[in-house]
Amino acid sequence: MAVFSPRRKVVFSCPACGAHLIKRTSYLLHQFLRHDTFVCDNPVCSAAFSGHTELTHLASPSGMPHAPPCELPRTPGSRRDKTLEKYRDDDLAARKSAQTEMTLSLAVNADNTNGGDLDDDDVEEPVADDHDD
Ligand SMILES: [Zn+2]
Repeated sequence: MAVFSPRRKVVFSCPACGAHLIKRTSYLLHQFLRHDTFVCDNPVCSAAFSGHTELTHLASPSGMPHAPPCELPRTPGSRRDKTLEKYRDDDLAARKSAQTEMTLSLAVNADNTNGGDLDDDDVEEPVADDHDD
């Protein structure tokens, strides 16, 4: 029996009769805190309740390019996402570094090999002093 509005989202049930509690008033106390008043949808009961709705954590950051940083702490799941994101960034940086080192190493080896031929002049051999003056 929905007297006020059948399309409203039900958040609570009346502890006295079990009917839906309908939010009648709501006002902002703080950026993350609202005061709410709920009324039982059963006209015979008509119990009323008040309470607060509070945003406590950031579950997913804004996708807006210039969004200001949020003051709320991240949810544990969000922290996991952030950790995975950092791991991926670190892994990518490590791969780029390794790739750069390998490229430099290959470039140095290419300079030293002179196209694959190794001349006798390039190799230093111990000089044997077998002739007397
Ligand atoms: Zn009720």
